[in-house]
Amino acid sequence: CGIVGYIGKNKDAKKVVLEGLKKLEYRGYDSAGITVYNEEKSEYEIYKDFGRVQKIVDLTKDVAKTSVSIGHTRWATHGKVTKDNAHPHYSDTKRFIIVHNGVIENYEELKNIYLKDLKFYSETDTEVIAKLIEEFSKNRNTCDAIMDTLKLLKGSYALLVIDTLDSDTIYVAKNKSPLVIGRSNEGVTIASDLMALVGYANEFFSLPDHTFVVANENQVKMFNLNHEEQKVTYQEIDLDE
Ligand code: GLU
Repeated sequence: CGIVGYIGKNKDAKKVVLEGLKKLEYRGYDSAGITVYNEEKSEYEIYKDFGRVQKIVDLTKDVAKTSVSIGHTRWATHGKVTKDNAHPHYSDTKRFIIVHNGVIENYEELKNIYLKDLKFYSETDTEVIAKLIEEFSKNRNTCDAIMDTLKLLKGSYALLVIDTLDSDTIYVAKNKSPLVIGRSNEGVTIASDLMALVGYANEFFSLPDHTFVVANENQVKMFNLNHEEQKVTYQEIDLDE
């Protein structure tokens, strides 16, 4: 299973993400999917299915240039291997789109407390995260809605979140599942594994547990869950391509 995200104007985001996901195939997976910001249509589109990353490559071959994308390969833990259970998942009105690696141990409990009246489209623990963020966004800003969601989650997650009302930002969170962020003057790339950054970033850092990152094309800001900004120290990527 793996995660890749890219934001930037200089590369085709879809291509960066799909190539990255292919490099993560060795981690094992049963389904794949991406969301892309289609610049021609000015909207996010979701493509997902069970099976190989190549299926998503084929499904998206006619999509026009994209500037933001997040993608996922799934190793099912909650729910069968089906198209509906493949990531990305989305919130009630589809405002928030997310990909997640890991396991949310208290998802049933959170569903019963906060999301009783909502319709669910998948059997995953992940969909609960997307729906909680939207519930909380009704009376707070996006960062606070995501942070307040993170504080409730028990378990492991590498998480990328898109707010479709803002096509310039990817929100990132991590606890107990690996995640690295790389940058170059071509944009910001996020992935489960350094391999997926090679060729797109010349420096990177590994996210510590319990951190939350707001990334846009030119800036990466990291916070702890008390909303305090944390210093980011980048390391050079020193691999032969
Ligand atoms: N628990 C999530 C699911 O079953 C994510 C699994 C993964 O890490 O790929 O969909």
